[in-house]
Amino acid sequence: MELQILGSGAADGIPGLFSNDRVSSYARLAGGKDVRTRCSALLDGILKIDFGPDTYHQVIANRLDPSKWLAILFTHSHEDHICVAEIQYALYPFVETQEAPFAIYGNQKVLDQIKNRYPEWPLELHLTQSFVSFEIGAYHITPVAANHDDDEDCQNFLFANQGTKILYATDTGLWKDRTWEFLTTVQLDGLVIECTDGLNPSGYSGHLSVESCVWTVEELRKRNILKRGASVVTTHHSHNGNATHNELVAALAPHRIEPSYDGLLFHCDCNAQSPYSASNLSQSL
Ligand SMILES: [Zn+2]
Ligand SMILES: [Zn+2]
Repeated sequence: MELQILGSGAADGIPGLFSNDRVSSYARLAGGKDVRTRCSALLDGILKIDFGPDTYHQVIANRLDPSKWLAILFTHSHEDHICVAEIQYALYPFVETQEAPFAIYGNQKVLDQIKNRYPEWPLELHLTQSFVSFEIGAYHITPVAANHDDDEDCQNFLFANQGTKILYATDTGLWKDRTWEFLTTVQLDGLVIECTDGLNPSGYSGHLSVESCVWTVEELRKRNILKRGASVVTTHHSHNGNATHNELVAALAPHRIEPSYDGLLFHCDCNAQSPYSASNLSQSL
């Protein structure tokens, strides 16, 4: 499987929309990997994960064709992950088709938001629940409970296809026992995990910092949930984490974790090369 990270930023992106803090100011000047749009990914060009306010930009920047998307899977209903207004452009009169090319998968709060906005529209909606697997084509998908917001069933997604497994874990927090119990039955070829708070842990328990992200990854290795050689990249970085891209590289490299960046192609196969070539990594450092 190939997962493209379309957006690697948190709520207000990097630079933060209205922020002039050190990391935002640096990102405005440096551009490149320091600019992070709102969190989003695309699996094998057909399964879209989250559909936030930067979707249009991400489609243009990566020369994507959204009419090829079979499904949009929502992790949860926070506004950096869902922009309901943009869904209308998939239907007549903006396009000739009377039905959207994609099905929508989300928790109850996500589906309610979409139904309220489009009560009469012929959208194919599927309710997702933590630990209840479903299939889309050849993909076996299991939503895994995050520990992010008690008001809804926030989900990380485990994708399995032809023996390869990847866990996409944004807006994760420190998993509760039920999630760890489930994961002990899994062997991962690749992991994308949030590192929102970077070098500046906040009081909010629904996100991970470098410290708690590293703890989680080391625990996954100890329990043999992460296969030897499995690639691990981070996402959902906030400027409030007080770390530039290179500072994240330096903080995470000793733990064999790499910060992702917008546009990164992540190959989730233990036999494949790391998403960073050696030359890219040394440039980043
Ligand atoms: Zn978020
Ligand atoms: Zn969130």
